[in-house]
Amino acid sequence: MDHNYEKAVERILCSEEQIKKRVAEIAREIENYYGASDKKLLLLGILKGSVVFMADLMKAVRLPMEVEFMRLSSYGKSAVSSGEIVIKAGLEKKDLADYNVLIVEDILDTGNTLFWLVDYLKREHNAKDIKICTLLDKPDRREKPISVDFGCFTIPDEFVIGYGLDFNELYRDLPYVGILKREYYE
Ligand code: 5GP
Ligand code: MG
Repeated sequence: MDHNYEKAVERILCSEEQIKKRVAEIAREIENYYGASDKKLLLLGILKGSVVFMADLMKAVRLPMEVEFMRLSSYGKSAVSSGEIVIKAGLEKKDLADYNVLIVEDILDTGNTLFWLVDYLKREHNAKDIKICTLLDKPDRREKPISVDFGCFTIPDEFVIGYGLDFNELYRDLPYVGILKREYYE
């Protein structure tokens, strides 16, 4: 066991307290936006990175909802996504026409993953209304014309870990978001 697990963190970017406060704030925005809609609400979490955020967000949004998960992966190096996405675990529901779909993701980085997913949900699942909710947004790295509808934090171009985000599958369990020390990947 590594008893100094958190030494990988250069600096905390979003503390537990800050995350808790922002999750409550965007939960109110989501309630205001969907509260008057006649359609059913579906929160679609993207595994594995969204799992901590999804668990906190779904408890904070006081509206009737269904939840689903998909697991996606992209070809190429782990830290940079390509446009080629593979579905590792798909949706159980076939038709999403009757739903307001809210994609819940850890981070919008290049945008390649979610740009592909939005098109896929329209094409293969007949989705009509799709919005994006992310914990983090790194706009400096965007390669696709896509933006966040409900977002907690805009961050600089740094590799971050914690609150669901991993480095080589570790650190997802940290209760805050921190910058990974460069010596870990350089
Ligand atoms: P995209 O580049 O397609 O917008 O982002 C795809 C995925 O890259 C994200 O869902 C996330 O898993 C991963 N990613 C992007 N930036 C970071 C980061 O700073 N830290 C970690 N751990 N993952 C990231
Ligand atoms: Mg991810």
